[in-house]
Order: sequence, then structure tokens, then C-alpha cells
Amino acid sequence: MAIATINPATGETLKTFEPMDDHELDERLALAAAAFEEYRATGFARRAEWMLSAARLLDEESEQLARLMTTEMGKPLPQARAEAAKCVQGMRFYAEHAEEFLATEPADAAAVKARRAEVRYQPLGPVLAIMPWNFPCWQVIRFAAPALMAGNVGLLKHASNVPQTALYLGELFARAGFPAGCFQTLLIESGRVEGVLRDGRVVAATLTGSEAAGASVASIAGGEVKKTVLELGGSDPFVVMPSADVAAAAETGVTARVQNNGQSCIAAKRFIVHDAVYDAFTERFVEGMRALRLGDPMDETTDVGPLATQRGRDDVERLVADAAGRGAHVLCGGVTPSRTGWYFEPTVLTGVGPGMRMFEEEVFGPVAQLYRVSDAGEAIALANATGFGLGSNVWTTDPDERERFIGALESGLVFVNGMVTSYPELPFGGVKRSGYGRELSVQGIREFCNVKTVWVG
Ligand code: NDP
Repeated sequence: MAIATINPATGETLKTFEPMDDHELDERLALAAAAFEEYRATGFARRAEWMLSAARLLDEESEQLARLMTTEMGKPLPQARAEAAKCVQGMRFYAEHAEEFLATEPADAAAVKARRAEVRYQPLGPVLAIMPWNFPCWQVIRFAAPALMAGNVGLLKHASNVPQTALYLGELFARAGFPAGCFQTLLIESGRVEGVLRDGRVVAATLTGSEAAGASVASIAGGEVKKTVLELGGSDPFVVMPSADVAAAAETGVTARVQNNGQSCIAAKRFIVHDAVYDAFTERFVEGMRALRLGDPMDETTDVGPLATQRGRDDVERLVADAAGRGAHVLCGGVTPSRTGWYFEPTVLTGVGPGMRMFEEEVFGPVAQLYRVSDAGEAIALANATGFGLGSNVWTTDPDERERFIGALESGLVFVNGMVTSYPELPFGGVKRSGYGRELSVQGIREFCNVKTVWVG
């Protein structure tokens, strides 16, 4: 994919970029390795000062940054502003908590016949972050804030359709005072990731994106015995049981499905509703999906903007056509509007089942699938009948039922009576084909640390 800003609302190419040549790439890697040697010795207080200064800059520039994100990938402007605010919050969170998360932990010295025994957390070195366009700032910050606070240095290979956001982030940390080379953007195509992964100066990698990209990066890194964290797709269930507040579930369900124009790994994608409340939920949910305003993402009143790329829109169109062609029913939407830009109407389908592509694959657009079930067991079986395991939403007020779902759902996150979202305070990540490892919270910052056992006799 060419490295370019193409406005998804118009299809217009606004700016193209030449990828870095091999010489410049080599210089960047050398700078990262050299920077790490000095940076690892800085204390938490210095790092926190720089991180807070980066947070301040981003906060001051958030309107401009939000407009840039919307221009490059089409999310509604208010959601871009919210993303910028979340980045500020994430940076402040790690500035405040990194020292406590990585504090040396005493162990039971007597039990291991030592005078002293403890666990320390030390940085690993330059980490490559391969990031997607859907939350072009937040995905990067949720890697960069903990990584930098831990004393690692970062190299960003961002998605090719958000180069200006990538360059902004590459400069942000340097402008905030971090030493040169602590965080750099590599403007390269995905075909050149392998060379960077195999380079001895890069010690680990994290990827958020598709299964195919994750599998490729993990297998190359595995060959080099380098650690990876993968945050891949999801096809999150949204289960509604009879005791639920159906109106609240339907309203939240609409937001959970169409947030970010439907392009979120943790968007609710499969709505699994108990027979007793199916009709009531469906009526409200479809009404909510129909009422959404599709339009220019710069317009403050728009609920759903265009999909980020033409390929992404075409994929969604094909998945819907495949399901409809095999017997699924379209309750609303299902069509590509005749306007410029890569729009797709908010869509609800019933009758999706095995043999249809969307039963197995992630639908990265504003398309919901509705399923009717007769009890909790059937709901759990269907919720787990996917290769993915990122998030799940359950709506019930019955305490026993709640515990049963929490225990049985195969996912990295379970949200009860609310929509799956990420918080700096909570670990984030999946199981099964949604990836492995965790971001955020204490678990996230420790992923790229050497957990060093110290035994002193
Ligand atoms: P990709 O996985 O292709 O892109 C994500 C990042 O990985 C980009 O930086 C991309 O670079 C890079 N990349 C792609 N292929 C490779 C590779 N073989 N080796 C190394 N890096 C690679 O996602 P797409 O944008 O193509 O979206 C496709 C589907 O992926 C979506 O429809 C959705 O299902 C899923 N997805 C999930 C996301 C999530 O949040 N979990 C985010 C984005 C996508 P470049 O842009 O240069 O190709």
C-alpha cells in the first residue's frame, strides 16, 4: 500500500510520502540502539516529567490532531477528540504509576536459602510497534507510554494510510524532551518489516491489526526468538438475557457496534438475544441503527462516517453480499450509498450461520448480526463459536447467570451491563486467534521488561 493520506470521505489523495531508504532506516535503528544505552539509566522521575510534557503538548494540540485523524481515516470528529483526550489520560496514567508497577518485589529469601531474594523489572531495548489506522493515536500511545516509562525505546511502523498522524507522534516525544532516538517513526511499507524484525538492534515487537499480519510478524520474530505481543481482530458477542434492561442494552448495543464507523476490534459484532426479549430488543436496536446519521465525519452531527479505505469498504460489502446470497435477511441497511467516499449504511442481519463468511470472519464496518437463543447454555455456546476471543458483553441482572457467563466466555475481557472498552487501569488483550499478551495496566508495562530474579547468598 502506498504511504499516503487519502481522505476517505472524498477519495481524494491529499499527500503522498516516499518511504525511507535503507540508509535512513539503518540510521534510525542505530540511533534507537544508542539512545537505549543512555535512556535505560534515566530514572522514573525524569521519564515522568517528559511523559507529562508530551501529554500537555498533545492536549494543547488535540483539536488539530483530531482533525488530522478524521481527515486520514474518517472517524467522526467528536470521536477523534475523545481519542486524543484518552491519549492524554493514558500518558498521565503511566507517568504516575510506572514506578509503582515496576518497583522491585521482595521474595521469600528464607525459602530459597538466600540472604536476600527479589524480582526486578528492567527494560529490554528497542521495541518495534506495528500499528493500525483505526485508532491511529491511541493504539500508538497505549504502547508508547508504558514502553517509554519502563525505559525501553520505541520504533513505530504505522499503517500506510495514516502517515501524518505517524509523523506527528514521531515528533511529539522529542518535542516533549525525551532524548533523540527514544521514539521514532519509520516510514516504511509492510514488506520491509521483516528486515527490521530480524535486525539485532530490535529486541521485541508488538502488533495490532489483522490475523494475517500478526501471524507473519510472530513467525518471523519467533524465528529470531524475540518476544511479541499481538492484539488482533475480534468478533465480540453481545448477549442479552431476559433480566436485562432491554432498552439500555439496545441503546448501548448500537454504540458498541458503530463506534469508530464500526471499525474497532472490540466492537460488538454478534448480538445473541434470549427468545423472551428478542422481539423487544430487535425492534429498539434496528430503530437505533436506522436513526444513525451517515455523513461527513467533519460534521459535528454525524454518527457514522466513511470506512477508512476503499478496500475495507469493499470487504464489508462482500461479506454482506455473501451472507445475503446464502439466505441471511437484511433488516436494515445492506447497501453502499451512491455518494463519493467509502460509506456503508448501518446494517442489521438475521439468519447468519455456518457456511457464511461473516460467521467466521471479523466484519470491520457498521454491520450487526442478530441471533435468537433459548437459554444461557445456547448463548454461551454461540458466543464461543468463533475463532476470536477478544471481548464479550453480557446483559443480565441475575447474579448466578452473571457468574456463569464470566466463567464460561472465552475472551480476554468480559463486560457485564456495559460495553467493552479499554481503560488504562485495566489489562487489555485477547485469547484464541485474537492474540496474546496484554496491553495497559500493570500487566501491559511488564510485557516488555526483563523480569529479573535476584538471589543473594
Ligand atoms: P493490517 O493488519 O494489514 O494492518 C495493520 C498494520 O500491520 C499496518 O501497519 C500494516 O502496514 C501492517 N502490516 C500489514 N501486513 C503486514 C505484514 N505482513 N507484516 C508486517 N506488517 C504488516 O490491517 P488492514 O488495515 O489491512 O485491515 C484488515 C483487517 O484487519 C480489518 O478488516 C480488520 O478485520 C483487521 N484489523 C484489526 C484491527 C484491530 O484493531 N484489531 C486494526 C486494523 C485491522 P501497512 O498499512 O503498510 O500495510
